[in-house]
Amino acid sequence: MAQPEQGPLGPEVESEKVQSALRLARAQLGELAQDGSSLAADLLAFQIALTEDAELTRPALVAIAAGEDAGRAWRGALDTEIDAYRRSGDEYFAQRAQDLVDLRDRVSSLIDGALTPPPPQEGSILVVDELTPSRFLEVDWKRYAGVVSSAGGITSHVAMLARARGVPMLIGPKVSSVDTDGGTPAILDAVLGVLILDPEPATFVSCAGRRRARAGNAAAALSAATAPAISANGVPVAVYLNVDDPGRLAAVSPDLCDGIGLTRTEFLFRAGEALPDEEAQLRIYRQLLDWAGGRPVTIRTLDAGGDKPIPGLTPEGEQNPFLGVRGLRLSLRRPEIFAVQLRALARAAPSGNLKVMVPMVTRPEELAAARMMMVREVEALTARGIAAAMPAFGMMVEVPAAALTAADFAADFLSIGTNDLLQYLAAAGRDRAELADLQDPLQPAMLAVIAQVAAAGRARGVEVSVCGEMAGLPHCVPALLKAGIRALSVAATAAPAVKAAIRAAET
Ligand code: PEP
Ligand code: MG
Repeated sequence: MAQPEQGPLGPEVESEKVQSALRLARAQLGELAQDGSSLAADLLAFQIALTEDAELTRPALVAIAAGEDAGRAWRGALDTEIDAYRRSGDEYFAQRAQDLVDLRDRVSSLIDGALTPPPPQEGSILVVDELTPSRFLEVDWKRYAGVVSSAGGITSHVAMLARARGVPMLIGPKVSSVDTDGGTPAILDAVLGVLILDPEPATFVSCAGRRRARAGNAAAALSAATAPAISANGVPVAVYLNVDDPGRLAAVSPDLCDGIGLTRTEFLFRAGEALPDEEAQLRIYRQLLDWAGGRPVTIRTLDAGGDKPIPGLTPEGEQNPFLGVRGLRLSLRRPEIFAVQLRALARAAPSGNLKVMVPMVTRPEELAAARMMMVREVEALTARGIAAAMPAFGMMVEVPAAALTAADFAADFLSIGTNDLLQYLAAAGRDRAELADLQDPLQPAMLAVIAQVAAAGRARGVEVSVCGEMAGLPHCVPALLKAGIRALSVAATAAPAVKAAIRAAET
C-alpha cells in the first residue's frame, strides 16, 4: 500500500531538516575531500562553501515559513538559483551551476532520508548527464565497466580523475534513459570513443577480441614500462610523471619514469582549511624529492583560479575566470602567500634535483618578477643561516602570447600546457563537450605552435616538455615527436602506453 504523503511538520521542524541535511552534506563532502584525490578536494571547496552560504538557504527558509515542506522548499530555492547561474551568460557561473545541481541532489536526498540505491550489477556502465568530482569519488568503480557522461570535456578535471584511476570514460553522447534503465546490454569502448547499445552477437565477439589484444598489449607495455623510451630511429625521449596528489605516488615505482614533470600544488590548498605553512609545504616537497631519488622533480607554483577556485584566495565574480587573475598573475598579486611557497621550495632545493615552474605566464616581465622573488628568498634564508638553494626556474607555456614569443623568456626550461593552450588557441573552453570538434589537439594551429616553442627551446638550449593531457594520448605522440618535442609528462597510468608509442614512432 502506498504511504500517505506526510505534509509539512511546521516551520521549525522543516527548517531543522534543511539545516541538518546541510550539516550532513558538509560532513560528507569534507570526508570525500580527505579520502579522495587532492585535485578533487580542491574542486569540492566550492560546494563546501555553498553549504555555509546563508544567502543560498534563505529562500528555502522563507518558503518553509510560508508553509512549504523542507524538500520542496529546498529544491525550489536551488532550482531558481541554478536557473539564474545558467542564464547569467557568464562562463564561470554556467560552470558552477553543475556544483549547485550536485549539492541540490545531495541535500534533497538527505532531507528525504533516501535509501542508497542497490549496488549495480557488476560490469554495468554508469550513464549520467554530468559527473562532478564529488559524485566521481563516491562511486565504487570496481563495480562499473566505465562511465558515459553527456557533459564535460576531455581535459576537464573529472576526466583527469577518471584517467588517473583508469576508469574508461566517454564524454558527449546523449543516451536516452529508456535505453539505459532496463538493463540493456551495451559495449563501451572508450579507446574508440563509442557506446554500442544492444549490440549484435558478432559485435560482442569482435569487441572481446579487441579487448584481449589490448590486454596483451598492456601486459607487454607493463614489462617494458621501466625501460627508457627510445624512438624507432634511436632518439631518447624523457617520460616524466604528472602528480596531482603525492599520496598516490607511494604505489608507483620511480623506475617507471625519468622524474616528475609537473606537480600541481593546488592539492596543498584543501577545502575550508588554512593555507599550508612553510614547514608543511617543505615536508611534502622533500618527500617528492626523496621519492624521485635524484631524478628531476618539477614543482609548479600554485595555479589557483580558472576552474580551480580557492575560496578566500581567488577573486570572486570574475566574468571569465579562465581569462582572469589566475596562476602566476594571482601569485604576484599576493606576494605574502607566494613568498611562503618560494621559501619552502628554496629550502627543499638542496635535498634533490628540484625544478620550480610557474603557471600562466604571458609576458617575460612576469617570469622575471617571479624569479627575482625566488632569488631574494634564497638570499634571505642563506643570510639567516638556513640551508637553501636556487632551483632551476622555468615556466608553463600555455598562453598563446607566451608560446609565440617563447624565445624571449629567461626560463631554464619550458613545459607546454596543452590543456590551456588549446582552449585559448581555439577559443573553446576545455570543459565544453559540445565543442569537441574544435578541441582536437592535433589541429594544425596547435602543432604549429608546439613546433615553434620546441624550436625556441632548442635555440635557447633549454628543455621543452609537454605536460598537458595531449602528452598522455598515444595517438598524439608521433606528431609531438615530429614537432621536435623530446620530453613528455603524463599521468602514471598513461606512462606505459606512451613509452610504447614513442618506441613505435620516428622523430
Ligand atoms: C595545462 O594547462 O595543460 C596544464 C598542464 O595545467 P592544468 O591542466 O593544471 O591547467
Ligand atoms: Mg594549465
